[in-house]
Amino acid sequence: MAEKTDIIVIGAGASGIMAAIGAAEVGARVTLLERNSAIGRKINATGNGRCNFTNEDGNNLGHYYAGNKEFVKGVLESFPVERILEFFESIGVVPCLEDEGKYFPLCGQASYVSEALERKLASLGVTVEKGVKVEEVKADNNGVTVRAEGKTYYGKGVVISAGGNAAPDTGSDGNGYGLARALGHRIVEPMPIIVQMKTKGGFYKSLSGLRVKANVTLEADGKEVRTEYGDLMFFDYGISGPPVFHISCEYAYIASRAKQIFCLLDIVPQINEAELERLLTCQSKVMSNSVEEMLAGIINKKLIRLVLESAGVAGNKPAGVLLPKEIKQIASALKGIRVVPTGTKGWENAQATAGGVTLEQVDPRTLRSRLNGKVAFCGEILDVQGDCGGYNLTWAWASGHLCGVRLAEAVCEGRK
Ligand SMILES: Cc1cc2nc3c(=O)[nH]c(=O)nc-3n(C[C@H](O)[C@H](O)[C@H](O)COP(=O)(O)OP(=O)(O)OC[C@H]3O[C@@H](n4cnc5c(N)ncnc54)[C@H](O)[C@@H]3O)c2cc1C
Repeated sequence: MAEKTDIIVIGAGASGIMAAIGAAEVGARVTLLERNSAIGRKINATGNGRCNFTNEDGNNLGHYYAGNKEFVKGVLESFPVERILEFFESIGVVPCLEDEGKYFPLCGQASYVSEALERKLASLGVTVEKGVKVEEVKADNNGVTVRAEGKTYYGKGVVISAGGNAAPDTGSDGNGYGLARALGHRIVEPMPIIVQMKTKGGFYKSLSGLRVKANVTLEADGKEVRTEYGDLMFFDYGISGPPVFHISCEYAYIASRAKQIFCLLDIVPQINEAELERLLTCQSKVMSNSVEEMLAGIINKKLIRLVLESAGVAGNKPAGVLLPKEIKQIASALKGIRVVPTGTKGWENAQATAGGVTLEQVDPRTLRSRLNGKVAFCGEILDVQGDCGGYNLTWAWASGHLCGVRLAEAVCEGRK
């Protein structure tokens, strides 16, 4: 069976839905194809089910990673945070500002965001077909042909918004890269980001699940790459928690380039090293107990063994006989337990993808392919990613909107 339309959008995630809305608002007939039985499955999983849909600081390029930041700039300017907020309010999603500039829907339910978007698609007359997995895309001078099992769709333009490789059970399992490759597009090697990091040797069982406030610093070839503060968690495989999710974004970029990479865990972020040394010196003078017992007043007991191993000091030693050199070593260990990252957890644990369709072959003003102007890309499938905190959805909305509007304007010119 053959279906004719103007714009075919492949993938009803955040970016594809927004592209369909943008194209339909320009007056195009739009067919949105989704392999799952429902649209926006990943949206429903975002923000722990609450959907951190954008961030106050979402226009700041510092939160994005890409081969070409200028590319990202233009896209964000075309549909900045202010317009994202306006758009969501217009469809009934009331924005609520929380810590770190994060916006969530006031109702606290991610599923409401998907429902509101689905209503908007219906009001614009977008045809949404669920349970349709696209297997092939062809584009020539006559238009585009999109083949799914048992069905072929013809259109004037196609948006490929099939997502990256993160959380493959939501439908974005990397198959979109195959569709792009078949059209001649190069793919920057995808890597999982916003994900837990594995460390050499991991940590002992007794630490598994322990959560402490810490500064986590990523260091490559002797240079500090990024420091993040927050809840650090220890596991037998390595480390997790918000600061680790943040630094995993940079790690994806430097992992294959840097010769020596460390993570430094500062588990007493409240006090600087010199003060800590003074504090330990005073404590050692007044305490008649062991070093271990003295440290129990400073850090979580479960961490003492790790710190003393790192400092090279015996725990049963009486605190009173500690040498100044040993106090220095303990202070230094407390401010920077050095662990060696060996990789990250896999795609099923990742929240986003580094890498994807190379930006060199995509026009930043329209997000149309430089190889064939009837094809366009948006969202996570492109080699652009954002920090944890609402930036990936910001990218998805902004790139989706620009892509849908510009493709519809280009291929439907003269139709209205
Ligand atoms: C657990 C989790 C929590 C997250 N939380 C946040 C958050 O709070 N804030 C934030 O900003 N970001 C968050 N993210 C990241 C954010 O959700 C994504 O970056 C964003 O949703 C990507 O949108 P997308 O449209 O590009 O891709 P996706 O949402 O992955 O959508 C792609 C769609 O294409 C469909 N598809 C794929 N291949 C085909 C095909 N061949 N045919 C038809 N359909 C196909 C898929 O089924 C999918 O529905 C989170 C991610 C995860 C996994």
